[in-house]
Amino acid sequence: MSSNTNPYYNENTILYYNGKFKNASKVSTDLYGQTLHYGYGVFEGIRAYKTSSGTKIFKAREHYERLKKSCELIQIPFPYDIEELTQKTYELLALNHFSDAYIRPIIYCDPNMSLTKPNGVNIMICAWEWGAYLGDNLLNIFISSYCRPHPKSIKIEAKVCGHYINSILATSEAKNNGYDEALLLDSDGFIAEGPGANLFFEKDGELYTPQLGNILPGITRATIIELCQDLGIKLNQGLYKPHTLKNADAAFYCGTAAEVVGIKSINKQNFPLEWKDSLGKKLQTAYKNLVLKNELSTQTN
Ligand code: PMP
Repeated sequence: MSSNTNPYYNENTILYYNGKFKNASKVSTDLYGQTLHYGYGVFEGIRAYKTSSGTKIFKAREHYERLKKSCELIQIPFPYDIEELTQKTYELLALNHFSDAYIRPIIYCDPNMSLTKPNGVNIMICAWEWGAYLGDNLLNIFISSYCRPHPKSIKIEAKVCGHYINSILATSEAKNNGYDEALLLDSDGFIAEGPGANLFFEKDGELYTPQLGNILPGITRATIIELCQDLGIKLNQGLYKPHTLKNADAAFYCGTAAEVVGIKSINKQNFPLEWKDSLGKKLQTAYKNLVLKNELSTQTN
């Protein structure tokens, strides 16, 4: 066994495993699993926030629906009920006494060394405490030498375990070169997304974001689009080359983990508009208000 201790749980942590709540240190998985060997599994990243009306999971239904869709896209069975999973996730948070937390459901496959459909599936949902950030620390990003996987090679809209090798390579490359984060292009050289976040940029008072097709359809991205409608911000979706981004006034990343985070520079070139004056900052504030009130969420209790 690895000598590293697991920083995500202690002896009291409870997780949800195939319909039951279990002590995290008492469950294990089979070393012959298809997900472990081939990355053939799907997962989600969800956040819960402490709000004035208690702990609220932001867009739980949307996340569990994406989990189901990810399974369908790669032919992994999904024998679960979304309402029930949402309810169990609230119970999981309560059992662990968590409010501000990150929640990680994963569907992983039984032992099967062949490259065929799964013999059976398992669900595990774990969570750990993670406070909301939404601060003003800006990122220096860099265009990765890795591109996003071609949508004809994989199901790019699915949140599949194995796809994250691409994200790990790009993140490591960015950090090794002294940057905070990577930006990946698609295989045709258009701007795609970050390793775990979607990109928006601002030019002349309008917002731009890569269209769906070559990116993960982020739930935060969809929320930002809704907020743009509420705030009367003109949003354009299309295919953009890096020079368009380099000529932008400001930019930001958004995602469940990243929330809304401003970008200071790309390949060492600073964006001219100050973050405090940008549409990103306005949307960051609106996003913060939303997750802490959780108005748009369709959570069940
Ligand atoms: N793109 C990628 C590659 C991601 O991993 C994530 C995180 N799930 C996102 C975008 C943002 O998605 P969401 O807003 O649903 O967290």
